[in-house]
Amino acid sequence: MTEREHEHVRVAVIGSGFGGLGAAVRLRREGVTDFVVLERADAVGGTWRDNSYPGCACDVPSHLYSFSFAPNPHWPRTFSGQGRIREYLEHVADVFRLRPHIRLNSEVQELRWDDERLWWEIDTASGTLTADVVVSATGPLSDPKTPDIPGIDTFPGKVFHSARWDHDYDLRGKRVAMIGTGASAIQIVPAIQKEVGKLTLFQRTPPWVMPRADRAISKAERWVHRRLPFTTQARRGLLWGIRELQVQAFTKRPNELGLVEQLAKRNMYRAIKDPALRAKLTPDYRIGCKRILLSNTYYPALAQPNVDVVASGLSEIRGNTLVAADGTEAEVDAIVFGTGFHVTDMPIAQRVIGADGVSLAESWKGGMAALRGATAAGFPNFMTVIGPNTGLGNSSMILMIEAQLNYLADYLRQLNVLGGRVALTPRASAVAGWNNRVQDRMKRTVWNTGGCNSWYLDENGVNTTVWPGTTTEFRQATRHVDVGEYEVVRAPAESPEARTGKGSKNKEASAA
Ligand SMILES: Cc1cc2nc3c(=O)[nH]c(=O)nc-3n(C[C@H](O)[C@H](O)[C@H](O)COP(=O)(O)OP(=O)(O)OC[C@H]3O[C@@H](n4cnc5c(N)ncnc54)[C@H](O)[C@@H]3O)c2cc1C
Repeated sequence: MTEREHEHVRVAVIGSGFGGLGAAVRLRREGVTDFVVLERADAVGGTWRDNSYPGCACDVPSHLYSFSFAPNPHWPRTFSGQGRIREYLEHVADVFRLRPHIRLNSEVQELRWDDERLWWEIDTASGTLTADVVVSATGPLSDPKTPDIPGIDTFPGKVFHSARWDHDYDLRGKRVAMIGTGASAIQIVPAIQKEVGKLTLFQRTPPWVMPRADRAISKAERWVHRRLPFTTQARRGLLWGIRELQVQAFTKRPNELGLVEQLAKRNMYRAIKDPALRAKLTPDYRIGCKRILLSNTYYPALAQPNVDVVASGLSEIRGNTLVAADGTEAEVDAIVFGTGFHVTDMPIAQRVIGADGVSLAESWKGGMAALRGATAAGFPNFMTVIGPNTGLGNSSMILMIEAQLNYLADYLRQLNVLGGRVALTPRASAVAGWNNRVQDRMKRTVWNTGGCNSWYLDENGVNTTVWPGTTTEFRQATRHVDVGEYEVVRAPAESPEARTGKGSKNKEASAA
């Protein structure tokens, strides 16, 4: 591919959720205007476009679950619903004039690193382009995962995933099976319980559910936030600080979480009076090992006569009959899978072909690993937003996204400082060193010691998703790019060897 045949940009961002839009704003602030945002869907919003199920809302307070550079004094509730969060992201796209950069209906099908020209060739559903740098913000919870249940083909009713809700299907009066008890399921159950005829919840593992301090934000509060913008920031700071103080219990002293279990049990006992149901709903692992869920309405909904809890996973389907692993059967008209997403096997990794012709998925076969959660060995100028070990158990992912965008900004500055056609590729030793430090800290955390099997762990049982520290620590670790952790790659014509005629190797020793 020659330069004249196609479009070339400095940066291509994949995805238009919080990560992709945040990256776009940051690029503009850094003075980079030569970039595109490639989005497979026909609208921006990511998570908050795709998850429109009844009851969908954030579980981190809105004033913290929003960009620090785009505070929103208008949040209607402490935990706002999906519609308002989606509107917020549309607003961000408008206010920061991102629309001209956004290419909708442009699913990225393959990315190939060109070692000669030092750019990424990108095939999308709307055409091909090249980019010096690729920022992959395809989201950790973006591609729904549906288990392969034997007999699913024989089911004559309606089947859909929580992240692809079918609003044309009328659930009223129907016998509905909800599969799974994660964050989405516990929002869906109370939202649909009153309208369905019968709801059967298939629960493999009961979650810990804490009360949710959700309330409308009063007109007076919103007025104050509008008139005195620092109050929005102060509110955000308080929400952040409280969560930051909780981190030690998750990462170093899981036993302290026993007290929190008592609060969660009280939350359950208030609504569930039947001892048999209480027994089914009581977790046998340490709180925090799986994401702590928040709801005031989940347990009351489960106590209703039209709800059955099957304390066993779905194992087989025979026509309209759903069979659990413990043999329990239920006749249903519709199945809603609340079974999560491809997290530790992110689909974009299969489509990224690095410097050695190996895909990111192959390179991560033994487990995902990226330097400072962002860059992977063998994949020059390729950065993942919300990459390996950047997830949080108790706070806002926007904090992590913004920290990663600091890293991106400095990365681009470093490329400019180096000058010419140049790429940075992380040293395998730096990636391994970072990953070893992360995994070492992980050993004591509740996610690894709490006695549960969660989606934080990959197929080898390794926690490749969660950050085992405070957001402050992560922010510090991503403030600057340490060029010593990278090899500097130059186009053959520009490498010192080519200039002096000594061989074709185009990797420079960096300032290590
Ligand atoms: C229901 C739900 C509730 C949540 N609540 C919270 C919360 O309260 N607090 C919190 O911190 N986190 C929450 N999360 C996690 C949430 O995913 C992150 O907070 C954040 O929204 C992730 O943003 P993102 O931009 O990285 O990914 P996403 O929002 O998933 O966006 C990724 C985008 O990439 C696009 N894309 C994917 N593949 C391709 C491709 N090949 N080509 C082009 N485009 C592609 C997708 O279409 C999507 O638009 C929640 C997640 C879910 C599912």
